[in-house]
Amino acid sequence: MAEMEVKRVEFIKWPMSNHREQELVNEVVASGNWWRMTGDKVKTFEKNFAEYHNAKYCLGVSNGTVALEVAMAALDIGAGDEVIVPANTFISTVTAVIYCNAKPVVVDVEPDYFCIDASKIEAAITPRTKAIIPVHMAGHACDMDEICRIAKKHKLYIIEDASHAHGAEWKGRKVGNFGDIATFSCQNGKLMTSGEGGVILTNNEELYERLYLIHTGGRPKGDKLYRHVLLGSNYRLSEIQAALLIAQLERLPELTEKREIHAEKLDKLMCSIEGIIPQKRDSAVTINPHYMYMFYYDSSKFGNVSRNEFVELLNQEGVPAYVSYPVVSNTEFFKENRFRSHIKEAITVLDSDVVNAKRIEDEVIWLPHYVLLGEEAHLEYIAEVIKKLKKSFAENV
Ligand SMILES: *Cc1c(COP(=O)(O)O)cnc(C)c1O
Repeated sequence: MAEMEVKRVEFIKWPMSNHREQELVNEVVASGNWWRMTGDKVKTFEKNFAEYHNAKYCLGVSNGTVALEVAMAALDIGAGDEVIVPANTFISTVTAVIYCNAKPVVVDVEPDYFCIDASKIEAAITPRTKAIIPVHMAGHACDMDEICRIAKKHKLYIIEDASHAHGAEWKGRKVGNFGDIATFSCQNGKLMTSGEGGVILTNNEELYERLYLIHTGGRPKGDKLYRHVLLGSNYRLSEIQAALLIAQLERLPELTEKREIHAEKLDKLMCSIEGIIPQKRDSAVTINPHYMYMFYYDSSKFGNVSRNEFVELLNQEGVPAYVSYPVVSNTEFFKENRFRSHIKEAITVLDSDVVNAKRIEDEVIWLPHYVLLGEEAHLEYIAEVIKKLKKSFAENV
């Protein structure tokens, strides 16, 4: 049988940049001020990023992983403490907890929004629990009403892992305003990027002062006498990274709006295909910047072609697609409790406690946010390719 003809399209390339990035980076290079201690780009970026999120304090750091580690340190979380994390997230959410010698307690996610299941948090709280790290999965904010209620009741810190969620909102309020600290990643694929980079927000002045000290070897602002007033390390963002991020942030609102419109359109196209179910949207989410477009793939509706094989086939058709994160406790080091000297006790996570995360590990496919930054033709192409592949499997049976 003749194959269905689908005219191939080229997707938008990421990272995206123009004269603005070039201009700002050139300014840094020419100025000779390449680090935050003498330049003004990191300060400007911090001011702009805080303003955009209606947050009081912002700190640029080297990446999103250390942003979490610095947050843990600022809250003095360490040996003997427990921190609640979602079962489905990028591994840094969990490794940051282990690096400060605390124990990650894994809680399942819910199946529609892929965020931590707030109704399962209380059962995981013990006298040792210090904090909850909700991850705003793929840009979809977690149920912050419920998470804030639980944290208040049990006197727990909240660290929002907003690595996917620059500019996201829950009931009209920007992420970064619900917990004690919020962290963001500006790694190469993220919604705004300097190749590597991270950001921390807080509304608490005292915490901000601690975060600042920890990120620069414990030295107070302006110190020339090698005072190290608390234990810190070097997690500073450079002026060149900040120059890129100033430009990237200027473009973010426009790109977010485009992704919102295109995600809704892609939802319509995808929902018409039997066996494809996209991540749903809670009505309390007022902005979802769509870091990833995630969907379940039911292989039984696709001639039993496996999810992994299907991702390969999408890639061959020029559609950038990836398999979802594994359940964090199913990663090799975690499963075998290879925590080095950080945690001595074994951690067992039962399969029956992470059923939804396991289904996401096995069945979910994600497309990167830049597939939503092109034209409608790109969205149609994605749906047409999926239908074409589906038809070819049916014909091969
Ligand atoms: C990307 C990411 C991080 C880590 O950020 P890096 O900048 O890559 O270190 C942390 N948490 C989540 C959920 C992420 O996706």
